[in-house]
Amino acid sequence: MSSWFVKKRQQKTAVEEKTVRVPEGLWIKCDACKELIYRKELVNTHNVCPKCGYHFRIGVPERLENLMDPGWTCLFSHLQSADPLGFVAQKSYKDQLARLAAAGQTEDAVVVVEGTLSGHPVVVSIMNFDFLAASMGSVVGEKLRLGVERAFEKHCPYIIVSCSGGARMQEGTLSLMQMAKVSAALAKLDRAGLPYLSILTDPTTGGVSASYAMLGDLNIAEPKALIGFAGPRVIEQTIKQSLPEGFQRSEFLLAHGMVDKVVNRDNLKDFIAATLAWMTNPAGA
Ligand SMILES: [Zn+2]
Repeated sequence: MSSWFVKKRQQKTAVEEKTVRVPEGLWIKCDACKELIYRKELVNTHNVCPKCGYHFRIGVPERLENLMDPGWTCLFSHLQSADPLGFVAQKSYKDQLARLAAAGQTEDAVVVVEGTLSGHPVVVSIMNFDFLAASMGSVVGEKLRLGVERAFEKHCPYIIVSCSGGARMQEGTLSLMQMAKVSAALAKLDRAGLPYLSILTDPTTGGVSASYAMLGDLNIAEPKALIGFAGPRVIEQTIKQSLPEGFQRSEFLLAHGMVDKVVNRDNLKDFIAATLAWMTNPAGA
């Protein structure tokens, strides 16, 4: 029998096992080099370790601050997840959604904004890992699609900043359908000659990595981000081989042609701006 059918259920996914967001406190210890860092110093470095360059995970507000010029507008905030399957596992999906709403998480797992990036008009979608590990449910898919439509109407580039644990199992097949829906919408931008940039951040996994996160005209990753479909341990148990050092990290994917560029967070806005200048006006860049 294939090992697909005999493999034991994983205790935790690679994504779940490590929380690397900056913890509270005056000093924090870097997860990579274990050096102590003065918290205020991280504000100036966009939450990148000044000693070793380790990129801490950041939330949507920090990402907006990093990328957008002041004055952006939030779009499609009215969309809220339903519970079409009445899904109950260890927790009820309905209760999970209610708790997140009570905690002020009203945008589901993606925030879509329009505004400018270094003066370039853009529509930008940023996935929110604090909302069910940025899992791709129906609202995520619909907001991403509406973001595409908005970029199409404005005739401007579209950017998705991805991070995700994958499809949202609480919505079953409806979640998987979002892969095709968003991919089809992006094809419309392609036909119109409008740039789509995919920014992959730690971690971008599952159905998100298997669809729109890999469909950018340029796929740009932050350093050492975990990017892959299945987790490394699942793959090792399936193929019964050890995986090479750095497997499924940005630099490995760059070396093997899966991403186009690895860019440090403090250079990301400038890199995107230069890319957009070239893509939207190649003669003048
Ligand atoms: Zn460090």
